[in-house]
Amino acid sequence: MCVSYNYATGRFAPSPTGRMHLGNVFCALLSWLSVKSKGGWWLLRIEDIDPDRSRREFALQLMDDLQWLGLPWDGEVVWQSQRSDIYAHYLKLLTDAGLTYPCYCTRADIMASSAPHETDGRIVYAGTCRGKTPDEMDKNRPHAIRFIVPDEDIKFIDGHYGEQQVNLAKHCGDYILRRKDGAWAYQLAVVVDDALMGITEVVRGRDLLLSTPQQIHLHQTIASFSPFHPFTFSPFYYHHPLLINENGQRLCKRDRSLDLSELRQKHKNPDEIVGFLAYLAGLLPSPTPAKPQDLLPLFSWQKVPTEDIHCESQ
Ligand code: GLU
Ligand code: ZN
Repeated sequence: MCVSYNYATGRFAPSPTGRMHLGNVFCALLSWLSVKSKGGWWLLRIEDIDPDRSRREFALQLMDDLQWLGLPWDGEVVWQSQRSDIYAHYLKLLTDAGLTYPCYCTRADIMASSAPHETDGRIVYAGTCRGKTPDEMDKNRPHAIRFIVPDEDIKFIDGHYGEQQVNLAKHCGDYILRRKDGAWAYQLAVVVDDALMGITEVVRGRDLLLSTPQQIHLHQTIASFSPFHPFTFSPFYYHHPLLINENGQRLCKRDRSLDLSELRQKHKNPDEIVGFLAYLAGLLPSPTPAKPQDLLPLFSWQKVPTEDIHCESQ
């Protein structure tokens, strides 16, 4: 029997909420290099589950930008907005197992009852609606669905930042899988899709490093109900440093000078942008033009810094 075994599959999973900027390109380039240097596949998933913020034209523009940069993806593009039934299936699995509950809290309720996280002030949900009896709940009132997290440490090894350990109850509390307005939450969609798409490695910015234990735990929970492929293996995670501006803030869609519409006008040659990012990633000694393909033999996670990287407009 001839079995074709795909030993490395990566993905780029942008949210189409604005024009791609240099920080997104940095993420795309590193994830492309990481998986292509292993001879693997690089898939594109458009994370357009937030109906208020996602726009199709941003997604189409983003695909054009990736082609222009020389970062082609493999296979069909996956659109999260078309996968509602799949997310509903996994939500039902969790609900049938008694691991979710409806949450009727308003934003004001949550602010009043929850303690801000000790390190970064994030709000940790206090579990107000957990364990309410059916009489106390009005199923017709709009509600979010939350996932019950254990009061225990989840450990994992990040390919770039090493060993991590996070207590989910203290880090986030019971978190949302489906929003009050019916939109699917990022955490559920990302875990289900990474598993169903056969992703073996996730490369993304270190701003998501601490979402990873939530995702590993959710993946393991689903795997415990359906212990066969595709939930058998968890992806391996590599987080990368963020590009920051002169004020030490991470680049965002508001930094217009670093978005691709400006950069494409300024640099008619995409290799200049790719070479500059490769230089920031420690792969080139100076910011000289390069094609992604040429960087493959130079790529190693060991060369990539762990500190965030200052990046002034070129
Ligand atoms: N869609 C997320 C973002 O653009 C990234 C999700 C991920 O890579 O897990 O921030
Ligand atoms: Zn609640």
